Order: sequence, then structure tokens, then C-alpha cells
Amino acid sequence: MNQAIDGFSLRNGSQIPCIGYGTWKTPNGDVAINAVSTALQCGYRHIDTAAGYRNEESVGLSILQSGLKREEVFITSKLPNAKRGYESTLAAFEQTLTELKTDYLDLYLIHWPANSRQFNDWEQINLNTWQAMTELYHAGKIRAIGVSNFLPHHLEALMHTPVKPMVNQIEFHPGLMWPETLEYCKANDICVEAWSPLGTGRILSNETLIDIAARYGKSVAQLCIRWVLQNDVLPLPKSLNPDRIAENLKVFDFEISAKDMAIINGMPYFGGSGLHPDAVDF
Ligand code: NDP
Repeated sequence: MNQAIDGFSLRNGSQIPCIGYGTWKTPNGDVAINAVSTALQCGYRHIDTAAGYRNEESVGLSILQSGLKREEVFITSKLPNAKRGYESTLAAFEQTLTELKTDYLDLYLIHWPANSRQFNDWEQINLNTWQAMTELYHAGKIRAIGVSNFLPHHLEALMHTPVKPMVNQIEFHPGLMWPETLEYCKANDICVEAWSPLGTGRILSNETLIDIAARYGKSVAQLCIRWVLQNDVLPLPKSLNPDRIAENLKVFDFEISAKDMAIINGMPYFGGSGLHPDAVDF
């Protein structure tokens, strides 16, 4: 990977630009319009949103107004948890297309698995949702389908369906690598995307990371993004600050040594969202 538009290849041959721009908690309206517009001007060609972020409308407007052709921008959105199930997935997807002002998505994800804490029939719910996503994929309305926050036991049921998940988007940053999930995805040709690659900013003051980043003349954020890439995972950094939006793309002019990768890979948990896919009640 030499630039943000270089792609990760998915099982079906689709390519995803290797850095995506995150939009969680970016308010709909001028904030989202300006942020996404800045990101596109800086060179991001992959935008990560979700119906649950309630900003698809502004994300879509920004892309429309950017002057870029639709096919030049890779758009990901996600199915809200309240819309799991066959019929409601089909309806939620149409709503997402309307909000984003597009007639197809590059990638659609199940945002969170139905889990055993909330549902006795959690596996069947995930299968019903997946059936709808598979039909939308076959109809050409989605170029690639996947999941988010799925651990191996959630993925397992979907691996025996005609179209297996192509992407799993999980929380991934120094101190939190979900090694079993990472290994499972790599073994099954599922591209892993890193949400909160900067730990929503919480991990940026870590002394070990500060020391390593300084040795490369890079910021801790750039170190984290590069570290994600060197683990063959696709980072989705978010910033609302134009300078930092640009800074987060400048990660192709240095390489973290094997020794430093091992140090960062070995860091114990020191902060994250605290959300566990089997413990959440949403
Ligand atoms: P990050 O982990 O990318 O962290 C963003 C925070 O870091 C902001 O506070 C930002 O502040 C700060 N920051 C960004 N760049 C820099 C920099 N260069 N130097 C210093 N500070 C910086 O964000 P998110 O937690 O939002 O995760 C990224 C994306 O992942 C989301 O936006 C969303 O698209 C996706 N996501 C998916 C989830 C899922 O369940 N699938 C869950 C959560 C996130 P500032 O704006 O001031 O720069």
C-alpha cells in the first residue's frame, strides 16, 4: 500500500481503498457536510457511515457536491440494530440509499450481531438479516456485504450460507486486537476493518506510543494508523479538524520496524470503548 486509494481485495474481487474516513458522532448538517467534503478534498475515497450515526443525509450530500463520480467514492453503511430481520433489513437498506442519495452501496454491514444476552434465537435473527443482505447483493444493489462486531461464534453461522461475509469491522487499536477474531477472519478470507483506530482519542497520550512515534518523526495517530495497516487491517480514522484529517493520510512515507510492531502488538489493554459484542444490550 502506497496511498489511501490503494485497495484491500475482497473475496469477490471488489477493492476497498485502504484508509476509510470515519463519521461516528459527526452531527448531520454543516459539520458532517464540511468534514466529509474536507476528507474528499484531502484524498479520502472511502467514507464509513451508518444509519445509526444519523448523518447519512449529509454524507450523501457531500459526496454528491464533491464533483467526484459516484464510482470514485467507496461508501459503507450499516444496518441499525433495531432493523434486524429479513423484511426490516430490506426496508432499512432502501432508507439508507435514499438518505445517501445513491442507487447502490459499495459495502453494507450488519452493525452489531444479535447476541445471546438479548435473544434466544440470536443465530436465526442474524441468518434472516443475512438472507436479506445476500439478496440485495445478488440484485446488484450492494457491491460487497459484511458484518461488524462479530466474534468467531457469531460469524460461524453465516459461513455456511451461499455468500459468506467479506468484511468484519471491529474495534481495533493498540491494546485491543481481538486475536482470535483476527485469526479467524484471516483464515476465512474476511477483510478486517479497524473502528476507533485511535481509540476515539483515548490512547493517544500513551507514553510507549509517544516514544515510538517520536523515533519515526510521526504523530501517535499516524503511528496507530500505520500499525493497523501493517497488521493487514483497514483503518477508519475520524477527525473533524482539517489539519488532522490530512495528517491521518500521511502514513505511507515510513515503515514501523518488526521490533516496534512486536512491542505495540504486545501492549496490554489500556483503554477503549469497553463494548463487548456479547455483553451489549443494544
Ligand atoms: P478514532 O479512533 O479515529 O478517534 C477520533 C478521535 O481522535 C477524535 O477525538 C479526534 O479529534 C482525534 N484525532 C483524530 N486524528 C487525530 C490526530 N491526528 N491527532 C490527534 N487527535 C486526533 O475515531 P472513532 O472512535 O470515531 O472511530 C473511527 C470510525 O470507526 C468512526 O468514526 C466510525 O466510522 C467507525 N466506528 C464503527 C463502529 C462500529 O460499531 N462498527 C463503532 C465506532 C466507530 P479531532 O476531531 O479533534 O481531531
